[in-house]
Amino acid sequence: MLPYGRQSISEQDIEAVTAVLRGDWLTTGPAVTAFENAVSELTGGHRVVSCTSGTAALHIAYAALGVGPGDEVITTPMTFVATASCAAMLGAKVVFADVEDDTTLIDPTAVEALTTERTKVIAAVDYAGQAADYDALQPLADRVGAKTLADAAHSIGGTAGGRPIGDLADVTTLSFFPTKNLTTGEGGAVVCKDPAIGQRAHEFHFIGLVRDPDRFEITDEGPWHQEVHEYGVNYRLTDISSALGISQLKRLAAFKQRRTEITARYNEAFRDVEGLRTPTQRAGVDPAWHLYPIRVLDGRRREVFEAMRAAGIGVQVNYIPVYWHPVFANQGYRRGLCPNAERFYSEEISLPLFPDLTDADVDRVIETLTKLVG
Ligand SMILES: *Cc1c(COP(=O)(O)O)cnc(C)c1O
Repeated sequence: MLPYGRQSISEQDIEAVTAVLRGDWLTTGPAVTAFENAVSELTGGHRVVSCTSGTAALHIAYAALGVGPGDEVITTPMTFVATASCAAMLGAKVVFADVEDDTTLIDPTAVEALTTERTKVIAAVDYAGQAADYDALQPLADRVGAKTLADAAHSIGGTAGGRPIGDLADVTTLSFFPTKNLTTGEGGAVVCKDPAIGQRAHEFHFIGLVRDPDRFEITDEGPWHQEVHEYGVNYRLTDISSALGISQLKRLAAFKQRRTEITARYNEAFRDVEGLRTPTQRAGVDPAWHLYPIRVLDGRRREVFEAMRAAGIGVQVNYIPVYWHPVFANQGYRRGLCPNAERFYSEEISLPLFPDLTDADVDRVIETLTKLVG
């Protein structure tokens, strides 16, 4: 079965990991710092906190932003459940804003209508790899004293208006799961434009430990002393994973280029095929295409999905609207809430897209899908 996404691991990647295994630090060592610095360089020069997954990154980000009971977090239903569930777990009410019909990105007009004095975070998702419209979202957040969050699990390496992913929202979260644009096995990171939020993120992911003597409340213990002011978790990324990340980052531009090439081939092949609708690229955005989401019209999505799988092509669907998950539906979120997202979900199939996909594989996908809808 041709997968819809998979990692690309080189001999250099393997050597980078084995070098760490032979060294002194398996975790909380120099590779972690070097990886965070390398991610920072790519994402606008801000504070980066690496962590164990994209889900952990979202948990850390919401915690660092002080999200809690009484707060509202506005987000898109067209995402992986963690974008919403991590805010809900901290006690916030999640408010879903519909997506734009053409880009599938959160619609700033819908967000504006839902913004209140209780809004704490506006959390957008760079669906499929292109940046949401943060230029429109940031003023909406600023007006009510809220912060913007970019779930950029799909979009590391992309830009919008000439600015890199990581520089577009107050806080940006990344995922390094194997299908994503680069991998550390499991892994993620939080990029924080405000250093104070960055420090809170760091401490939350590090058990809440405070190590700066200037901030100690207990001052007479001794040189071993560290203390906790707020609860935290251990979401630390290892040096093993970080070494893989450093090595993968060197290949990110090549990954992005190959993903762009494949996307262009699909666009070219499917643009004029009746019964299909190709993705729309937003103006001013240089996407790092993570998914190729094509829409299968005329109620044929499931039939085409099953036929593609039967032909050995591992298509996927991204995503079921988040509030359809029973954990949200059982709280009273009703179907019909976000019609654009629901229509998109009913039509969407993600085609195989990853750097090591060959032209012959791409041609087979094109041929198979074209024949099926023809
Ligand atoms: C993958 C993903 C996540 C979660 O990342 P993990 O590393 O799998 O925990 C969050 N949001 C989006 C949009 C994702 O695609």
